Amino acid sequence: ASTWANVQQGPPTAGSALAQYQAILGVTEAFKADSFPKKINLGVGAYRDDQGKPYVLPSVLKAEKRVVDAKMNHEYAGITGVPEFTKAAAELAYGKGSPALENLVITQSISGTGALRIGAAFLERFYPGNKTIYIPTPSWANHKAVFDDAGLQVQNYRYYNKDTIGLDFEGMVADIKAAPKGSIFLFHACAHNPTGVDPTEQQWREIEQAVKAQGHFAFFDMAYQGFASGDTNKDAFAVRHFVENGHQICLAQSFAKNMGLYGERIGAFSLVTESAEEKKRVDSQVKILVRPMYSNPPIHGARLASTILNDPELYEEWLGEVKGMADRIIRMRALLRENLEKLGSKHDWSHITSQIGMFAYTGLSPEQMDALAKEHSVYATRNGRISVAGITSENVGRLAESIFKVKG
Ligand code: PLP
Repeated sequence: ASTWANVQQGPPTAGSALAQYQAILGVTEAFKADSFPKKINLGVGAYRDDQGKPYVLPSVLKAEKRVVDAKMNHEYAGITGVPEFTKAAAELAYGKGSPALENLVITQSISGTGALRIGAAFLERFYPGNKTIYIPTPSWANHKAVFDDAGLQVQNYRYYNKDTIGLDFEGMVADIKAAPKGSIFLFHACAHNPTGVDPTEQQWREIEQAVKAQGHFAFFDMAYQGFASGDTNKDAFAVRHFVENGHQICLAQSFAKNMGLYGERIGAFSLVTESAEEKKRVDSQVKILVRPMYSNPPIHGARLASTILNDPELYEEWLGEVKGMADRIIRMRALLRENLEKLGSKHDWSHITSQIGMFAYTGLSPEQMDALAKEHSVYATRNGRISVAGITSENVGRLAESIFKVKG
């Protein structure tokens, strides 16, 4: 018999990370198989330009040329990566001059997912309190998988209210207050995936107070800095607010979306520590964790991001391009809503424009999403989530008509 004869087919459990991934692949397959020329794919989680094409940022192209022209060697990075990159990534997240930078432990990571995984492993090994992490309902499906696999207990807190297609703020705060003291809470720093629903700054202030009152620990996942509002400082509000209020947060950063470096797998994981002496101890343990996982991270993406973040001119150019991506998405949201209202839809579509980031929760049912695909060649996942990045000036009219025909 084969060595692997006893390996069972993985279960397609509803809501699991794999099931969600397969659902998205299924959407892409169905889209590809459709011969209708005006078909629309709103399943993908990557930015597209107004022609529906992947976008390579001009600042990235320039950085890449500089890196190639410099004929750098391909020696190993250290365990925690390229120092010029991690230093600049920390400043981008916490803000230049933030006192947290002084005793920050940071390591380069295999994009945002890798950062979450290092964080989960560190908490599993060293967190002194309740090793249960609370994630929002719903959340990016891979959160549960990453934390489960790292050996943390995963629980949920209320987040999305399907009646208002908005934030269940009272439920969220109540769940923070009800969790055992010293629990770990995972927050999406901005552009919540999959709902596009974020707390307001005032709500973040109240969330911070509830977290502090319970002595919880905050783990921020910031996969979309700059991509939500177009302003990297504004999108970092929650992270900086918690730090300013004395929380020793940890943070997962990704440069997949805001630099369009998806496949380069460039990110960072950081922890705020209390003193130089503590920083030294924590840093040694992060290295001990990373070394047997993958030894040290790849260098190309780090060089690209570092070149952009450390060159004032390229940095300004990049900020403009991030804003350009965010603005296009905001514009598509407005156009979709406007078109639906023009068609005479009686529903309230204000959530389309109040939500933020790559994804929108339409509030359409699985059956309505099926009808969109079958009758109108508009493809997205059955949970009603659409990738706003897949909307263009050209297809938004037909998209609105299709939604109107399905939902009214
Ligand atoms: N966290 C959230 C909320 C995300 O939506 C994503 C990507 O979709 C990630 C983390 C990680 O992405 P990556 O590993 O490509 O940086």
